Amino acid sequence: MGLTSSSVGAGAKNADGNLLKGENTRLIALAGNPNVGKSTLFNALTGMRQHTGNWPGKTVGSAYGTLRRGGQSWIFADIPGTYSLMARSAEEAVARDLLLFGEADAVVVVCDATCLRRNLNLALQILEICGNVIVCVNLLDEAERKGVSVDLEALSRILGVPVLGMSAGRGNGIDALLPALEQLRGTRPRSFCCGCEIERAIQPLTDYFDAYRPPLPPQWLAARVCEADPSLMESLHRHMGMDLDDEELCRARDAAMSSLGELGIDRQKLSDLSAQGISDSAGRICGQVVSKTPRGTAREGRIDRLLTHRVWGWAAMLMLLAGALWLTISGANYPSQLLSRGLFWIGDVLGAALTAIGLPARLVSLLCEGVYKTAAWVVAVMLPPMAIFFPLFTLMEDVGFLPRVAFNLDGFFKRCNACGKQSLTM
Ligand code: GDP
Repeated sequence: MGLTSSSVGAGAKNADGNLLKGENTRLIALAGNPNVGKSTLFNALTGMRQHTGNWPGKTVGSAYGTLRRGGQSWIFADIPGTYSLMARSAEEAVARDLLLFGEADAVVVVCDATCLRRNLNLALQILEICGNVIVCVNLLDEAERKGVSVDLEALSRILGVPVLGMSAGRGNGIDALLPALEQLRGTRPRSFCCGCEIERAIQPLTDYFDAYRPPLPPQWLAARVCEADPSLMESLHRHMGMDLDDEELCRARDAAMSSLGELGIDRQKLSDLSAQGISDSAGRICGQVVSKTPRGTAREGRIDRLLTHRVWGWAAMLMLLAGALWLTISGANYPSQLLSRGLFWIGDVLGAALTAIGLPARLVSLLCEGVYKTAAWVVAVMLPPMAIFFPLFTLMEDVGFLPRVAFNLDGFFKRCNACGKQSLTM
């Protein structure tokens, strides 16, 4: 047998392996792309101080916080941001495994209203494997500023799950989450990507899993086993006891692969088609629920066209990064010099004043040359680069430039066993 049910249901545990759930306790996973306000929402709900910041991949482990209301305890898990369940990095694998095997009672998928399509890619993947999902469309204030509006009711109808709108940064809309969680009544996973032909081809494997009543949808498992992503296979083995060498499973997989082969589909193509299917669904849904004012559409369209252009995208990336580095390193010299001149002038005045009141020369030298001027020098050197770099970084993120840099460089970084997002730290 390929699946052992005894290893399923190990209970929700934190990083130390301690069991989190007791009686009257519900575990809620907060999932979403990086930088969509998960930690902001988590802090608002639990009163904790999980660090919030505006760069991708900030949350690398999961944070847990508790909220007690009436006789009910809620444990919220702020899981690492991820763009997809097809994990490419360690923190994405953590997020994927928590969603697949973490035994959350419900999953709250936080989405960024300003770029809903990219966020829906992940939301749809989660809806394919998790029941009890609520979608929170956050950053509605930013969306309004950019002339973007989202029809939340239509989105809820299409996805078949509750959809809440919020601006977590301003505390708007958060109060609706707990009542929605209390009223959540078993939404079921549903498929958004496989075409009919693929579904038919992998049917032998779907039937195989169906027989064992696994904790994940059989058709989803069948497609993933055909794709055979090593990291996911390892997780399925560890958490579900799936034995990939099981004879019956191998027979069903061979039958599925040969039917796929007749359609001209190999492992890689199946994975590409799955991703494409999800992306097409996300695009279609966005077309139905997102509207933009002409101003917002035109400006973003121009930026998008430039930054995603096959040639100009790279040129723009190199120029903007070089410009940002030049401004930070060389450009900062001018304010640095001005600052150090001003601060050192104050130091001289201070030294003269201390001498005038009769302090010994050695003490004046210690205070002014040793303490004050050292501190003044550090401030003059460090402050201008930081005051230039961080606003620039924020600006580049606001126009959607940084995620594109990470995307463009992903291939290069993968060759060093890293991922594109690490380019931002570098
Ligand atoms: P996470 O990576 O998903 O955990 O995102 P964070 O909670 O760290 O938030 C990323 C950035 O978005 C932070 O600078 C937040 O202050 C900001 N932010 C979060 N929610 C909102 C919101 O509703 N409106 C606005 N304007 N900013 C928000």
